[in-house]
Amino acid sequence: MLAPADLTHMQQERSDRARAGLAHGDFKFTAAETGWLITNGDGQQYAVTLTTCTCQDFTQRGKKLGFTCKHIEAARILFSQVPGGHMDSNTQVTGWTKLFHPAGAQVSLPVPLEPLSGAQARALFNSVAALIDAGFLVSAPGLEDGELAEEVNAVSLRNARDETPMIDFYSSNMKLLKKYMHAYLNNEQEVADFEAATGLHLADLTVYDGTLAIARDDNKAGKYITPLPRPIKLVWKLSPKWEEWKAAGGEGQEPHKRLLVRYETGKPLAKPATGTLVRRYLDGTSVNGDLNEQTAFDAYFKQNGSQAAQSKEVMRAWVKANPNLVTFTASAK
Ligand SMILES: [Zn+2]
Repeated sequence: MLAPADLTHMQQERSDRARAGLAHGDFKFTAAETGWLITNGDGQQYAVTLTTCTCQDFTQRGKKLGFTCKHIEAARILFSQVPGGHMDSNTQVTGWTKLFHPAGAQVSLPVPLEPLSGAQARALFNSVAALIDAGFLVSAPGLEDGELAEEVNAVSLRNARDETPMIDFYSSNMKLLKKYMHAYLNNEQEVADFEAATGLHLADLTVYDGTLAIARDDNKAGKYITPLPRPIKLVWKLSPKWEEWKAAGGEGQEPHKRLLVRYETGKPLAKPATGTLVRRYLDGTSVNGDLNEQTAFDAYFKQNGSQAAQSKEVMRAWVKANPNLVTFTASAK
């Protein structure tokens, strides 16, 4: 026999899964004669009403034991209490609006698309407007223009060809099996920032030696992908290279799309100017330890808005054109 507490727990778990699924847009509702057809993130389709569902969880267990599955819960969340009116089963939900609470929480609200009368559309518009009036934000709080944020909950470590540590970050949205973005840890400060933000020690991570980041469904993922003690937010922006590539029609090799701006802590990332472990050109090659080259690299970096040169050749040409901006030390030359 199930204790009432167990039953409450099982129900709570399904409500939580319904909420998480709705927040991630995992469920697609289509109107049916009675109730809705609901399509899961995995493509499975079930017939659901506010009290019944054709999925196994409900037919095999819930119905007998007395709890409702995540599909019924999702239908109840969406359709049993719609603010400002009753949304009946003839309403098809295919769209979502996402707004932010000023504290940073993102909420996803269903947007009925069809059939939708003019009055319904105005009511919908007004309810979104009321949410914004009440203080919900259209963009995530604390972001500058062009910045985006993603919550991540796991990392893995690779080494670049020159041994620079390279972190692959995985989204809290578990549907995304591939890494969400990566970032190089170019110097001690960047390693410290990473460790402070994630609560992990770089030295504790097992280096994955694949050329491409390991995916979550890889059978070795357990060894190489490390969950974070708690999820953190990464603030990122589109890389200028990627934007150029996209604007030019997106042909050929896609450049890396996302550049890490900072961790959510709000502390800006260190610029690799002093205490640098690795100085790297934008073409991916690094300075080979030659003191003159290091001096020139740092001068270029300082004089060009904290941007490294595209390549060693570009930097050399710049040094030639601006001899007064680079001071080679006596010992280095
Ligand atoms: Zn179900």
